Amino acid sequence: MNLDDATAPTCTICRRGLYEHELTHQACGPCAERIDLRLQELAGPGGLYDRLSAVLTPGAGGGGPAVSGSRTAPLPVRLEPLSLAAKGGVVTILQTWLIDWHEQLGYLHPRWDGGFQRQLDQVVQRLRVLLPWAVERHPAIAEFAVELSTIVRQCRGQVDGERPPRRIGVTCTCGRTLKVTLDTPGTRCPACGTQYGHSEVLGLPLAERNAA
Ligand SMILES: [Zn+2]
Ligand SMILES: [Zn+2]
Repeated sequence: MNLDDATAPTCTICRRGLYEHELTHQACGPCAERIDLRLQELAGPGGLYDRLSAVLTPGAGGGGPAVSGSRTAPLPVRLEPLSLAAKGGVVTILQTWLIDWHEQLGYLHPRWDGGFQRQLDQVVQRLRVLLPWAVERHPAIAEFAVELSTIVRQCRGQVDGERPPRRIGVTCTCGRTLKVTLDTPGTRCPACGTQYGHSEVLGLPLAERNAA
């Protein structure tokens, strides 16, 4: 990246130059679309959050034998999916963002009711409604995008049997190999300090695997 590019408005998420109609925006159209798709992926019947409940009970995922009536019974649920599904997990994280967005807009504190699934659907719907504003104006939209993609990846990992995200090696301009996932929002080279956006990092040459 040369110095002239530093002053041109770029998307805070993928670091690409913005189109003329979005020069004042915080993020570009494709990034906004990716955020919207991830939100949709979480919500509704059959969505990632709904499917988390299916892996909540031991045995569902082929865990140990079910033990009941014992004082020293193992944890009744698997911890990982629970921590995503329970208070403090996905729903709370998204609600915290929505509260923040409402505050920035000068709106009343958002309200929720019902169980976690219902609250999840509510908060996702509301975030999607306000997304065009956030993409245009929210100074921390990149932070939101990173947090959302982390949540979605963790939920997918649980639902799809904890398959770790595929990592690929790309070569930084300085020669260092960077390990990234295909949905990475971006990365920073620890060797030379260059900051790459999503499409920039995936545009780097693949690292050669010359080790035996
Ligand atoms: Zn972008
Ligand atoms: Zn580097």
